[in-house]
Amino acid sequence: MLKRLATEIAPRMMGYKLARRGLAPVPAPINLTYSVTNKCNSRCRSCDIWKIYPAEKEKLADELTLDQIERLFASIGPVYFFNISGGEPFLRADLPQIIAAGCKHLKPKVVHIPTNALMPARIEALTVEILAWMEIHAPKVTLTLKPSMDGVGDDHDWVRGVAGNYSKLMDTVERLKALQARWPNLKVGVGTVISTMNIHKLPGIIDAATQLNVDTYISEVAEERAEMRNVASDITPPQHAYAEAIRPFIAATMLRLEKAGGMELLTQAMRVVYYDVTTRWLAERRQILPCYAGLSNVHISPYGEVWPCAILGDASSLGNVKDVGLDFWKIWHGPAAMKVRASIKRGECDCPLANQNYANILLSPSAMSQVGQIIAQSRGRALLARLGLAPASPASPSPASQRPTAPLERRDQGEDHPFDLEAANGGRRQRGLKYAYTPRTPSTTPPPMAGVEPEAPQSAGRPVASPPPGPQGEA
Ligand code: SF4
Repeated sequence: MLKRLATEIAPRMMGYKLARRGLAPVPAPINLTYSVTNKCNSRCRSCDIWKIYPAEKEKLADELTLDQIERLFASIGPVYFFNISGGEPFLRADLPQIIAAGCKHLKPKVVHIPTNALMPARIEALTVEILAWMEIHAPKVTLTLKPSMDGVGDDHDWVRGVAGNYSKLMDTVERLKALQARWPNLKVGVGTVISTMNIHKLPGIIDAATQLNVDTYISEVAEERAEMRNVASDITPPQHAYAEAIRPFIAATMLRLEKAGGMELLTQAMRVVYYDVTTRWLAERRQILPCYAGLSNVHISPYGEVWPCAILGDASSLGNVKDVGLDFWKIWHGPAAMKVRASIKRGECDCPLANQNYANILLSPSAMSQVGQIIAQSRGRALLARLGLAPASPASPSPASQRPTAPLERRDQGEDHPFDLEAANGGRRQRGLKYAYTPRTPSTTPPPMAGVEPEAPQSAGRPVASPPPGPQGEA
């Protein structure tokens, strides 16, 4: 772990720190997210991407072609994390070829694909195609697949807007797990987006996810993203509800930490810090850690727009690669990129975007010191447990409730970070004061999709007609 950190990650991180201060040219991003399509066969209540093509069918022709993608990737050069996004990625029939182009030119160590799990057979078949190619051409690359799980049974179907989605999710997970015997570089996880629609049922979701016995189970807080066209959708839970709900995740992560080694140890400890950062963000609504979006990370839309992140999207696009002959560097070093980076550095936006916050943690000395403390704590506890001097698992290890001895990022670290509410309040935190929890008024039943997916298989499912019982169904 230390060798990889020291030789592969740390030098690039130093480059981002220097570039943020204007002391060096901006290096290539270490984390690239590419939305392969905006086609989607879900009808999620937290995201409106699926509404794009029923309303504007002609936009589909603007998505980058495989040839354009290959030329774009060739211009970018090596990254470390190559994340696929969508829409539903498996609706692109050439997904294996896109991954192959990514591995060839971006030379990632990790390729990550999320899915709505609505097409188990197709997901399995395309994953096999990807793994078979990787086995020969990129054998050391880890492929992670993360089906979404936002509820149990009908609750999941209601949040995702498609009846039968939950049983297809179970099918997809089993099919993917079966592939791991043949391809150990495949890691299977599930992810829950914690929103006002499911936060009250989280313990049941965690239980069900745990029983799946997958490699990772992670959560993200629901965000309003320009990418998802869900700004002002009122899906983000209030701080006090999230702080309570996240405790079991932290406890489970701490438990995993005791058994983890290598990169797994680091990522699990960073996850605990991420949960803490998110809890603080919900209360304070500012950049808790200086944000390196548009430096360490980049997001490219299906149409070739280069975004610093999915939250800002087109409103802060750095440019479109189609306008510059698919030469990424003309945009990455262009005037729009400099302007957007300056705005981010001034703290003019803030969010809990997980993908970006993991990079921000790596780039923050105080957050990494907290990571170190968590690792040391868990190692000490594991040792005591082995000696029979302590219980194996912590009762309540939440750093959100038990403050770390080293506080998270402040004005220190030499960062120009002017939006420190805590400092403005004379060091007092405003945890939990700003938001009162109001149950979400349910949206109307989503309309059926207007059929724009020639590749969508028969298993896509039918839209859910009405919500299951629960707080979200009160109105
Ligand atoms: S703080 Fe959030 S919205 Fe702002 S640039 Fe960073 S990731 Fe994007």
